[in-house]
Formats: sequence, structure tokens, C-alpha cells
Amino acid sequence: MRCKAPHIVIALLTFAGLPAASQAADEVNVYSARHYDSDALLYDGFRKATGIPVNLIEGNGPELLARLKAEGPSSPADVFLAVDAGNLWLAERAGIFQPVDSKLLDARVPAHLRDPKNLWFGASTRARAIFVNPKKVDPNIVQRYADLVSPSLKGKVCMRSSSAVYNLSLLGALIARWGDARADAWVKGVVANFARQPAGNDTSLLKAVASGECGVTIANHYYYLRLQKSSLAAERDAAKALTLIWPDQDGPGAHVNISGGGMVKYAPHPAAAVRFLEYLASDAAQRIFTDANYEFPAVATVPADAAAQALGRFKIDPINVSVYGANQGKAQMMFDRGGWR
Ligand code: FE
Repeated sequence: MRCKAPHIVIALLTFAGLPAASQAADEVNVYSARHYDSDALLYDGFRKATGIPVNLIEGNGPELLARLKAEGPSSPADVFLAVDAGNLWLAERAGIFQPVDSKLLDARVPAHLRDPKNLWFGASTRARAIFVNPKKVDPNIVQRYADLVSPSLKGKVCMRSSSAVYNLSLLGALIARWGDARADAWVKGVVANFARQPAGNDTSLLKAVASGECGVTIANHYYYLRLQKSSLAAERDAAKALTLIWPDQDGPGAHVNISGGGMVKYAPHPAAAVRFLEYLASDAAQRIFTDANYEFPAVATVPADAAAQALGRFKIDPINVSVYGANQGKAQMMFDRGGWR
């Protein structure tokens, strides 16, 4: 979820100090818990497209949410951005957002990738795929999330911590798909197959599978493409050692999440906030999400980056992503009960 520095940094893209400039009519103040190298292109692209400068405050999700709550009606924030529908749901539950009535967003963002009350909208999607080292694990035996409990995988499964929202949302989706009892058994079955205690992020897990330390993991697809496109030969070699499996293609489809955002309840620049959210759904911004970070465009008419397309067409689970947050508490309890740290 958090891909760079955990501390709050203020990037003054406009050379304007945020507090002093926050009441100007022609700017938008963005609090972002999304931190990919591609994001500067988005803010710059918005400024070029609209003439409206972006004042950016970055932090991790919990830090920014605490700040938004503490600032309350006096917050300068217009837009809150985050990765993972689970994080957007946490912000929604904290009362951070106000609904956005935008025909453009309604038309361009598919209904399953946005909050049913229009409090937040997906801008890009990412799929949580299965990755195996075919020298350690036969790809044919792990074609579904459910297969990760197979006794033949004992001592071969490596996973990220259960506190990672990517995994909380995946389990939230599996709870919706399977019901509590089966999801609970799945957690216990996967834990029984662990090669080691959960540790690391998606990238380090992919490398651990590539090296043969682990046989199989789950990771977001763009981390694999980053390895594939890396300037470092060792990372490109790691990608070559991995086999990507789109899960559940004979069933409901692969688990997909979003990055996205919504308009803050007390936004001092509501018109600019809506324009910013609409810009994220524009062809230009959609191409940045996919060309610069290998995510899939949320807008169906925008083609994915060539490397993402080369992963092949696959079936996605069309469940509404708001379900992940609704099941988050239950998912965390299941992970805790099952010993998935
Ligand atoms: Fe990520």
C-alpha cells in the first residue's frame, strides 16, 4: 500500500505554501496516501489540462486520516487519494468524504469500481495474482486462491502480513464469495502451508519466490511488471523465474482492487475537487496510471500499457469493491484467529 517514505512530506508543486494558499479559488489541495513514481505526472497533467495547480500532502493512510479528522471543518483538503478500496472505505467510515454528482464519473468509472453512494471512485485497477516458481511448484496445481491450501504446498507458501490492506481486501472478497466458514478454513489451510512467517512487501515476496526460497505467493500484478521492466538485470531475471497465474479463471475470476479517491466533506475548492476527480478518469490520466505504473485503466475504453496487455486477457471478479471494506473487520479477526500474522 505504502510504497515510499512513511513520513508526511509536503511537496509544493506550485511553490505556494499550502496553508496560506488554501483559500485561493484556483487550486486544489490533495492529500494522497498513494505514492508511486507515476503520481507526479498526474498532478502535472491536471495543472496543464486545467490551469489549476495541485498542492500535495503525502502521508500513509492512517496518518492522513488522523490529520483529516483532527482538522475537521477547517481542513484545507479537497481530495483524498488512496490505494485499495479498503483504505477508501476506512476514510468513508471516518466521515471524510462528501458525495460527488458527476455524469462524467458515472459514465466512465464502472459501477463495481466505485462507492455505491458516490463517495469515492476508482481510477485504476490492480489484480492480485498468484506467482509460482515452476521449479518448485507445478503451476497447474495452483490455478485458484482455494488451491493454496493444498497439502502438496506444505512449506512452500510465502505471504505478506495480514495487516497489509491488500490481503485484508482479498480475504474480504473471499468472505463475500465463500461465506465465513470456508474463508476461515482457507486462512488456516494457507497458514499450515507457510514456508515462513509473513514478512516483506509484494516485491520482496516475488523475489523470494524467484530465488526458490518460497514456491508460491500472491502479489499485485504491477510489481511483477516492474521487475520485468527493471533497469537491474537481477530484477529482470527474477521476473523470468516467475510464472504468473490469473486465479479462478474457471470460477468467479481474479480479485481486483482499485486506487482512487473522493472529495473531502469540507473541501474549500469543491469545483476544483470534482474537476480533479474527473481528470483522473480522463484518457490522459488513465494512460499515466497504466503507462507509468502498469496498473489497468478503470475506464474500459482506454487500452492498458503494452506490458500489462502482454499478461493476457483474464476474467476479473466483478464484485463491488466496497465489499472489501465492509468485510475488513471480519477479515482481520479471521487472520488473527488463524495465526496469519
Ligand atoms: Fe502497491
